[in-house]
Amino acid sequence: MADGRPAADEPQSAPGGAWAWHPPLPLAGVPVFAWPPRPLVALKYLLSLAFLGSVLVPFGALAALSWFYLQPALERCAEFRADWILQMYARNLGLMLLAAGGLHLYFYTFRRQGAERKFDPRGMGTNDRKFFARNQVWDNMLWTCASGVTIWTAYEAGFMWAYANDLLPFYLRVNEHPVWFAATLFMIPFWASLHFYFVHRLLHWRPLYRIAHALHHRNDNTGPWSGLSMHPVEHLLYLSSVLIHVAFASHPLHVFFHMQWNTLGAAMTHTGFESLTFRGRPILMLGSFHHQLHHRYYDCNYGNPHMPWDRWLGTDHDGTPRAMAEVVRRRRARLRPAAGRP
Ligand SMILES: [Zn+2]
Ligand SMILES: [Zn+2]
Repeated sequence: MADGRPAADEPQSAPGGAWAWHPPLPLAGVPVFAWPPRPLVALKYLLSLAFLGSVLVPFGALAALSWFYLQPALERCAEFRADWILQMYARNLGLMLLAAGGLHLYFYTFRRQGAERKFDPRGMGTNDRKFFARNQVWDNMLWTCASGVTIWTAYEAGFMWAYANDLLPFYLRVNEHPVWFAATLFMIPFWASLHFYFVHRLLHWRPLYRIAHALHHRNDNTGPWSGLSMHPVEHLLYLSSVLIHVAFASHPLHVFFHMQWNTLGAAMTHTGFESLTFRGRPILMLGSFHHQLHHRYYDCNYGNPHMPWDRWLGTDHDGTPRAMAEVVRRRRARLRPAAGRP
């Protein structure tokens, strides 16, 4: 198809062949939202390597580091000036180079983990005309650094300016409201998950898909640099989840956590490997097979694994042949009326 979508009857093995590795199927849902409720299992998940160890602790620590050591003083941000905004851009670019660049070097250049827990057997695309300089990694880096890091910084700079001018309803201090502070941090991945599902469905609306989202979907196989490789329109929409902090009492640290999770976290979740391992055991969860399926099959799995929106709204692909058949059936049903029209 002209916009890069697969044909209705694409077999499960195309376009990347059989998966090299995948987690046990069907993919398990997040127990936090199980029905009937399973509070102990849910608590275990919230304290697990996947949530506490790979999201809250590393991104919470990075947000604190950014706020205390890598952020121009708030008084300087009262007026929009190039000096402090460029300082923030340089910090964010440095963080992205460390995260996506580090993951790329580790997994793809030096292949330190070999093929262990790698979903798609293919490497990154080379000599492919759909990419800038015919190279997937250079192309992905260009969109990430030129548009992604710029729009990420613009959102953060807007918040710092608003905090400096006392324009936001509340400045949530950890020593005054520690529980509220921690609960807000805790809720961000779930809010971001909700926002991602609906914005992502919007991006699959054909006109927006063609204008913007098709660019991200050129990556039918993904690597760390693919995570934030998007069209500027998609960056604006995708990163707008941070605007929740205009309405809810927050601290700049929450804004950094939110943005870094949505940007550096995207580099992690697109790594193409399920986890970083040490002696065969996962020590940091990275790629999401759920989203890897979305990159290969397009019209399923619009959400991320933190909330089961796809299950609730009938767009789930749990990785099994039965789910694949259902995705193909839905695709055919959607295309049929258009094809039958005179
Ligand atoms: Zn993606
Ligand atoms: Zn998509």
